[in-house]
Amino acid sequence: MMKSVALLGYPLRHSISPVFQQVAFDYYHLDVLYEPWEVPPNQLKKTVVHIRESSVLGANVTIPHKESVLPLMDRLDGIARDIGAVNTIVNRDGELVGHNTDAEGFIRALKQEGGFDPEGKRVVFLGAGGAARAVGFALMKAGARSITIVNRTYERSRDLVLALRGLGELDIVALPMKENILAEVVGHSDLLVNCTSLGMKHSANESVSPLKASSIPSGVLVYDLVYNPPETPLLKEAKHAGAKRLGGLSMLVYQGAVSFELWTERQAPVELMLKAAREAL
Ligand code: NAP
Repeated sequence: MMKSVALLGYPLRHSISPVFQQVAFDYYHLDVLYEPWEVPPNQLKKTVVHIRESSVLGANVTIPHKESVLPLMDRLDGIARDIGAVNTIVNRDGELVGHNTDAEGFIRALKQEGGFDPEGKRVVFLGAGGAARAVGFALMKAGARSITIVNRTYERSRDLVLALRGLGELDIVALPMKENILAEVVGHSDLLVNCTSLGMKHSANESVSPLKASSIPSGVLVYDLVYNPPETPLLKEAKHAGAKRLGGLSMLVYQGAVSFELWTERQAPVELMLKAAREAL
């Protein structure tokens, strides 16, 4: 009998996860269909019930459901609990287990594609939403020397600082999002990560970069989690500044690869998945 894996999100028309996940299932000749389930927030609870069915291996969860799906799980993996968000659900004989693979995807891409080990490094990241929570957790676990969080809504970044301090010893602060403050902090950092949706294609802010080239030192690695377009406004500014750059596509594929391994207990064909994702853009 054909099985399925669902992608829960709203809206979903721009997602490329179905393309590179299907490539992985087909590589192993698994009779599995990875299918988008576009679910508005008020339908989430009733839809999650269907993931318990024996024909469903599990699901990926994306914007805007990563936090709201958490209380609908029967069990949570420790990382999902610490991050406070679920992006992968595994159906274990009718029991729903919530995982979060964003943190691992972020670090794998940073190390393997960016050639950057955050241990002992000074990091500044923009944003305090679901992706930022996973990034903060990942950087903390990877032994970053200091973390500065800059977000439009200051209270949100302050709450994230408090949550991360609760997980371990860390030099971490929240600062308001002002161009001069940001430029000053970036000037003393090794890594800048954009975890906001600024620069995302088809959004109201698709042409906006959070920083100009003049505020980006050439020695900093600029990592933009936004993957569409591949060269975001921030990455263009980083290029003008002569800084090293990393886009969000490899993180997207790596987090998806970890999800695939959770559903199938097989090693994900990462290179094939990366190739399919690049072609889909
Ligand atoms: P989210 O929870 O909705 O958070 C959005 C963040 O962007 C918040 O910090 C928000 O600030 C900020 N923001 C939105 N509009 C802004 C504006 N006009 N000016 C300044 N800040 C603004 O979303 P998310 O799940 O964290 O995702 C954030 C981005 O990361 C998305 O573009 C998503 O596609 C990308 N992402 C990529 C990957 C990957 O694998 N590459 C994985 C996850 C997410 P406020 O708190 O002030 O609202």
